[in-house]
Amino acid sequence: MIRIAIANQKGGVGKTTTAINLATALAACGRRCLLIDLDPQGNASTGLGVKTADREYSSYDLLMGDAKLVDAVSGTMIPGLDILPATVDLSGAEVELVDHADRAHKLQKALAEEEARWDVCLIDCPPSLGMLTINALVAADSILVPLQCEFFALEGLSQLLQTVERIQNRFNPSLSILGVALTMFDRRNRLTDQVAEDVRSCLGNLVFETVIPRNVRLSEAPSHGLPALIYDHRCSGSEAYMNLARELLARLPAREMAA
Ligand code: ADP
Ligand code: MG
Repeated sequence: MIRIAIANQKGGVGKTTTAINLATALAACGRRCLLIDLDPQGNASTGLGVKTADREYSSYDLLMGDAKLVDAVSGTMIPGLDILPATVDLSGAEVELVDHADRAHKLQKALAEEEARWDVCLIDCPPSLGMLTINALVAADSILVPLQCEFFALEGLSQLLQTVERIQNRFNPSLSILGVALTMFDRRNRLTDQVAEDVRSCLGNLVFETVIPRNVRLSEAPSHGLPALIYDHRCSGSEAYMNLARELLARLPAREMAA
């Protein structure tokens, strides 16, 4: 199972939108996919139609050792896509984990027990570099960074890359950067064009060729509890996420692509 953390400590850059739609696109490509919602806001869970009342077990229970992964996940309306939802309890986890010696390895240990069930696991991280995101980066093989095409886009990135380096040095030497995905791209806006160009000249091949456009269907879909790929599979946002999924699969090691 390939594990990919979708992380950026900035809020509102498209992490959750990417997690939901990339997971759906990967399932559409025939990969057995698990989406772990690691944000106390639970937007990925809501966006995939998991009602608050139906979240019997959550990522909080998994981190605290109160539930096993197999018991805690639920299916979604998308064949091949399962979700481990988040509840507000998760906002207390940062503090509660302080007393645990293995606090950075909770997610890694929980995932290690269920290697064979899924091909890909996406982890939707909260907008911070706290213990939840650290758990995701310790558990992950690689990180995918959604980057909004706006003026300060690159500013937070150096902090994120420093964190990645620290995690590599201390906990997870094999953590790699899978890629940076440019989000909310608006071709009519010259500034976003310029930002995209700057990011590419700075990060080179690390940036996915696929660009996610600003598309109102992507923002409407979650209020219906649906991925955009189901809500409107022909909109530009859905098409972009299908392309991103294909590009991502091509970047993974050949042995995983064959899965
Ligand atoms: P994050 O998880 O990083 O906080 P979200 O994915 O929740 O970011 O996106 C923030 C807001 O922007 C949400 O309301 C979402 O619907 C909207 N959004 C995200 N990506 C796009 C896009 N490509 N086009 C239009 N709206 C988007
Ligand atoms: Mg989010």
